[in-house]
Amino acid sequence: MIIPDYHVHTSFSPDSQMKPEEAIRAAIAAGVTDICFTEHMDLGHHMEMYDCAPDFAGQEETISRLRETYPEINIGKGIEAGYIAETAEETVEVLAKQNFDFVLLSTHCADGFDCGVPESKRGRDKITAYKRYLETVYDSVTDDRLTSYYDCVSHIGYIAKGLHYEDNSFPYQLFPELMDTILREIIKRGKGIEVNTSGMDRGGHVLPHPSIIRRYKELGGRIITIGSDAHKSEKVGAYIKDTLAIIKDAGFEEITVFEKRVPKFIKITL
Ligand SMILES: [Zn+2]
Ligand SMILES: [Zn+2]
Repeated sequence: MIIPDYHVHTSFSPDSQMKPEEAIRAAIAAGVTDICFTEHMDLGHHMEMYDCAPDFAGQEETISRLRETYPEINIGKGIEAGYIAETAEETVEVLAKQNFDFVLLSTHCADGFDCGVPESKRGRDKITAYKRYLETVYDSVTDDRLTSYYDCVSHIGYIAKGLHYEDNSFPYQLFPELMDTILREIIKRGKGIEVNTSGMDRGGHVLPHPSIIRRYKELGGRIITIGSDAHKSEKVGAYIKDTLAIIKDAGFEEITVFEKRVPKFIKITL
């Protein structure tokens, strides 16, 4: 049975102290069979600590060593590229020079603020704030400069993790038309979506919401990955099995992993 965790941060990300080897050990202990390190790169982020790229040479060297030491787990080299329109060209320039197994495209910021911080709310009601976030997701997937350089759109509904409102949930029914447009663009461009389990602890549901996963399937979506977004060892592999069940329930028979940015479809067996 495959248990992939395709969204893990380590000390190569500015907001994690977890050593890559610690992540591998935690993954093996949690039954994870395929892990991908997706370090942060958010060029132009308003918080200075995020406005940087990882040490790619160090990441490469570490992964080669870990692959030799832990042959029992598949280890992917990935990145989580944050979308900020103003720095898209700079981002592409960096991505084009690296050989990744997997690239996530993430919308963290809308209107200049990370949607996870209280400033992004700025007196706005839920619908207004969530809509601006989703419009930025739309901008990211229709930005032709980036299309060749990523594989999956990460955590649609990320703003729910900001916990700004009494009910933070982000179901399909909030913006059906805009959501359909985004999902159709993703499918048309040969990209996929990531189901991020970190929303279970912050936001109340996986991201995207199961109703959006179902809709993605209905519209013909096939590429779908799963990731914990762990920044600490205790979160590696968290909720992965439950989420595989959610994905299967939405109509998917297969989960996707990547090697050198080529998708591989593997039957979900639970
Ligand atoms: Zn993210
Ligand atoms: Zn992440």
